[in-house]
Amino acid sequence: MRALQLTGPGTLELRETPVPEIGPTDLLLRVGAAGLCHSDLHVLAVPVTLRAEPMTLGHEIAGTIEAVGAEVEGRAVGERGLVYLCWSCGVCRECVSGNENVCLAAGRAAMPPCPGLGPDGGMAEYVRIPANSFVPIGEMEFDQAAPLADAALTSYHAIRGAREELRPGATAVVVGVGGLGHVAVQILKAITAVRIVAVDIAPDKLELAGECGADLGLRADGETATRILELTDGRGAEAVFDFVGNDATARLSVEAVAPNGAYRMVGLAGGNPGIDAGPAGGPGLPWGATVRKSYAGTKSDLLACVALARSGALRMSVERFDLADGPTAVDRLERGLVRGRAVLIP
Ligand code: NAD
Ligand code: ZN
Ligand code: ZN
Repeated sequence: MRALQLTGPGTLELRETPVPEIGPTDLLLRVGAAGLCHSDLHVLAVPVTLRAEPMTLGHEIAGTIEAVGAEVEGRAVGERGLVYLCWSCGVCRECVSGNENVCLAAGRAAMPPCPGLGPDGGMAEYVRIPANSFVPIGEMEFDQAAPLADAALTSYHAIRGAREELRPGATAVVVGVGGLGHVAVQILKAITAVRIVAVDIAPDKLELAGECGADLGLRADGETATRILELTDGRGAEAVFDFVGNDATARLSVEAVAPNGAYRMVGLAGGNPGIDAGPAGGPGLPWGATVRKSYAGTKSDLLACVALARSGALRMSVERFDLADGPTAVDRLERGLVRGRAVLIP
């Protein structure tokens, strides 16, 4: 089969590889679509090797069951679904509490095994998955379903975790209207009655935010925090979701969040919010504000995302590419040219 593999730091190659063999508790999935996430760019950019041998990328996967492991019950060849990306242990105290996204098996500050970031991922014709990571999608198109696995899941989890602050009339800021952010705007629209302010450096992304339901779009610059304070009578936004995570957006989030508000770090660009333990005053974090480094989401969050999409409340803006054109998709994402999510079709 064909697979898009990381063959060395920063090197992506389309290679011929054997179709994966499955174990007794696995499924073999024929991939229908695999989303390209900005995290894949981080993986390509950092000079680390996640494993010794080539690794297939792709952690947003939707497809059809091709084969069922000998011990798997309740699944059949031909079923359509997507893949929950936290391949958690299922028995640690976080897993049994329903917090599979922070499974403890890999370690305190690590993440559970994730396809395409350790085990082979879905940018291939077939992928091996643990049977319990399969989530049915009914008749939904694969290119719509794949981005639910991360872009929607991660956004939904961050938003759900801030729900106390998202009362009707509150202001929520979405920083970075890319693959994740454009879904975050739709989720806020679907499950809250807040005013949604979108922030991006690119005007076309603000236009997309408007189509997704944002009430207002702001160009990101040195004045963005001031503008948000003006819009909120000096109070700040009850919630700020940072889907970029560089120094500028981390600072912006700290300076624009309201007292008792929620600042949620999702983007992984290594930004420093400059939070210290000094007294209040100046542009720093206000009293009572909470900061959460939000990772992926729980399986129950994923079911909620699938339900929202099936109800018509979520519509992914997708750019489709043939698997062989993966490098072109990567290049377009790097240059900020993708509107919504790039999705590879094997
Ligand atoms: P993307 O490239 O699709 O979107 C990024 C958006 O941010 C673009 O619209 C871009 O124009 C905008 N942007 C860039 N710099 C900006 C700035 N200074 N101010 C405002 N907007 C700016 O990326 P994505 O796939 O949506 O991923 C977003 C981030 O989230 C990445 O860092 C990714 O690694 C991370 N991520 C985290 C998790 C998690 O669980 N924490 C999960 C998935 C992705
Ligand atoms: Zn991702
Ligand atoms: Zn666990």
